[in-house]
Amino acid sequence: MNQFEKLVAYDYEQLIAFQNRETGLRGFICIHDTSLGPALGGCRIWKYESDDAALEDVLRLSRGMTYKASLAGLHAGGGKAVIIHHPGLKREAAFEAFGRLVESLRGRFFTGVDVGTTAADLAAMSRVTRYCAFESSPALGDISQHTAIGVWHGLRACLDFSGIAGSGRKVRVAIQGLGGVGMHLALILHREGFELLVADINPAAVKKAETEFGARAVAPDEVLGADCDVLAPCALGAILNAQSIPQIRAGIICGCANNQLAAPEDGDALARRGILYAPDYLVNAGGLIRGADFYLSQIADSLPNLAKIHERTTRVLSLARERNTSTARIADELAESRLKPRKTYADLTWSYDLPNPA
Ligand code: NAD
Repeated sequence: MNQFEKLVAYDYEQLIAFQNRETGLRGFICIHDTSLGPALGGCRIWKYESDDAALEDVLRLSRGMTYKASLAGLHAGGGKAVIIHHPGLKREAAFEAFGRLVESLRGRFFTGVDVGTTAADLAAMSRVTRYCAFESSPALGDISQHTAIGVWHGLRACLDFSGIAGSGRKVRVAIQGLGGVGMHLALILHREGFELLVADINPAAVKKAETEFGARAVAPDEVLGADCDVLAPCALGAILNAQSIPQIRAGIICGCANNQLAAPEDGDALARRGILYAPDYLVNAGGLIRGADFYLSQIADSLPNLAKIHERTTRVLSLARERNTSTARIADELAESRLKPRKTYADLTWSYDLPNPA
């Protein structure tokens, strides 16, 4: 399938290819779906192997955001931006130029941090657009912490559903990746009395978890097969695949990493093995929920909304059991069921006109 055929097959709303010769800015904004509200999605900057690889990334990521927002019950759609990193990029000026482009969309697309984007990049964008989440606002709070709290609610639902919660024994969780989200999840689990196994390629992060949470270190290449009740992938995507799935000893997989399944069939393979898999975009929506609450609904405290991830996870797990299918397929079905048909561009009325800053 070429890229344009993909736009049609997965019903993408709009793809913007942009370039600005003066600053070396080059990249794509993809707005996958705004049938539920303005498209939300971060801006990634990466040294792509090719322009096609950048395009592939923005298509995949923006669609993922639509599903995440829909399943989280938000009045928001999915989008994403990628900026192609290259030696000729004048970074600060390029991010300002990009910010102007985002502003010109008048709120059809809200952006913010993603892989590679720094605080300085966000500051440059925020000088020229109102539609960039810049975490300098104390009222917004820490997005990664919100994500970790959401994962915790998803994990509680898995433990309740599997019966482990009531068994009275100490639950052992193996965390792969102790970054912004994984470390906070480790803190929550430690406070809740869980036993922790941790792995990270950064020895300082592992040391911190050992010292502060009494965690036991596992080698990064052994964590997926660790002897534990719960595996919490909090680092990389595509780690649940034909090679890793047979090695997994955990009965539950619940973590924050995006795109954990290498392919949809890997969700089926987990179900066949009787492993309870909490779909990633269901349980890692906490940061997105916080962003949408703060920017679109002016909600001061998102904790009650994060707690709803428990109920949503239980629903997905129950439906998967009832219909004898994978949790990943149920999550996709529920996310798609909220999207509204968009027959012509006439129904694309979304614009979110934020007041100009004083
Ligand atoms: P991060 O970059 O802060 O942390 C990632 C951690 O994983 C780092 O400590 C890194 O050293 C470690 N790591 C990398 N490769 C590893 C390997 N092979 N084995 C073990 N550890 C490894 O990222 P983050 O913000 O904590 O996000 C983690 C994951 O969750 C990513 O997949 C991200 O896309 C996803 N996610 C994050 C958020 C959020 O709010 N930050 C929201 C939704 C999804």
